[in-house]
Amino acid sequence: MDNSIANSALTVAKFGGTSVADFTAMSRSAKIVIANPDTKIVLISACSGVTNILVELANGVSDASTRQQRLQQLTQTHQDVLDQLKQPSSIQDAIYSLLDSVATLAEQAAIATSAQLTDQIVSHGELLSTYLFTQILVEQNAPAVRVDIRPIMRTDDQFGKAIPQPEQIKQQAETQLLPLLDGNIVVSQGFIGSNSQGVTTTLGRGGSDYSAALVAEAVNASTLEIWTDVPGLYTTDPRITPAAQPIKEISFSEASEMANFGAKILHPSTLVPAVRQQIPVFVGSSKAPEQGGTWIRQSVEDAPLFRALALRANQTMVTLTSLNMFHAYGFLAEVFRILAEHKISVDLITTSEVSVSLTLDQTDTGGGAPTLPLKAVEELSQLCRVEVEQGLSLVALIGNQMSDTKGSAKDIFGALEDHNLRMICYGASPHNLCFLINEDEAKDVVRTLHASLLE
Ligand code: ADP
Ligand code: ASP
Ligand code: MG
Repeated sequence: MDNSIANSALTVAKFGGTSVADFTAMSRSAKIVIANPDTKIVLISACSGVTNILVELANGVSDASTRQQRLQQLTQTHQDVLDQLKQPSSIQDAIYSLLDSVATLAEQAAIATSAQLTDQIVSHGELLSTYLFTQILVEQNAPAVRVDIRPIMRTDDQFGKAIPQPEQIKQQAETQLLPLLDGNIVVSQGFIGSNSQGVTTTLGRGGSDYSAALVAEAVNASTLEIWTDVPGLYTTDPRITPAAQPIKEISFSEASEMANFGAKILHPSTLVPAVRQQIPVFVGSSKAPEQGGTWIRQSVEDAPLFRALALRANQTMVTLTSLNMFHAYGFLAEVFRILAEHKISVDLITTSEVSVSLTLDQTDTGGGAPTLPLKAVEELSQLCRVEVEQGLSLVALIGNQMSDTKGSAKDIFGALEDHNLRMICYGASPHNLCFLINEDEAKDVVRTLHASLLE
């Protein structure tokens, strides 16, 4: 990848679903774009709630009247914005043709679903919202142009959690995006892409953050801005505890751990391209830009022992037990061969002498707790006993030098003496300690740890 010096003042800005939820939110976000003359590329999500409805339709709603109701909701969301435009006629036909296409595809999904069809359906959220947002910018006298990101955002074929191809994205961005930046503000879609045949793919739920980071990397941007509904990264999800505090500045390593371990504010992969290209990332609230936000950079002044807590629900733990594992070699290799064959990505892992516990990655657009395909269970069962457990949450404590600091484990586990912790991972990263816990205790555990370590 080209590591040349960043384009001296080129900001890529991403606005999430709540920041483009309706006419008012879009108008506020448009003002943020216009206020910074360096912002030349804007990636947006679907209007808030739209992707959820599209996922429901893609999963197959067989009752025609329920399906109709959902389609009506989609129409209403977009019509409400059209109604407040000065010149709705310039984009009305495009909006209605996309809504018609959703209706046709939803009917197909009611008969037979597929991951490819799901991506095609859910991509409509971003295709729709970008028409509206571009027009709002134009009506505020900004030179906005709408671009279809799909031919640029090249991915592999894994529908629902497609893997972007950075080299190809860079090449496509150089020919299709950079020439437009002179005098224009480009508005395009987060979350969606296409494979080498041009078939629509998606990067997984919440993937717009990742899209924006990939585009920022491809055009060598000097800053990536993520505009959302909270003024930056907090010490934990402010919805869990009002005691959560905003963080002014945080390192790439710590913020990557937060994103990876469930802080929904950033898609887990967002910081990977930013780190590769050393692009500072700003996270702020489009509702209150004056409150400032969080800067995420390579190096920061403050590196506290305990920084933040993240929570990830819907964990699936698989425990594999076999006496053959005892002092033998090759057992884990065989387990991982089977998992790899079924394209199952493992998240966490701990081992004892005769068993290994692991959790499954969960990133695809379909949502819910990840499951082991039956075929994989069958193959693993020839090797060992297989137990699958759900209803678990993962709590991660993020900080600095935790495994090298005497007494830190005592502070952490001391605060949790009333809880039954499941799998614990500690030591592999100096920035992270995490454990599984029953879903119904998880928020309490976060509140307890927050009170004792972060307040
Ligand atoms: P968007 O639609 O803009 O992408 P998301 O809903 O995906 O927004 O992410 C923003 C939400 O992330 C916040 O409203 C907040 O509830 C949640 N969140 C989780 N962890 C954190 C954290 N550590 N700091 C701030 N917000 C967090
Ligand atoms: N609209 C997509 C979702 O809701 C992508 C995103 O918002 O980041 O998951
Ligand atoms: Mg998000």
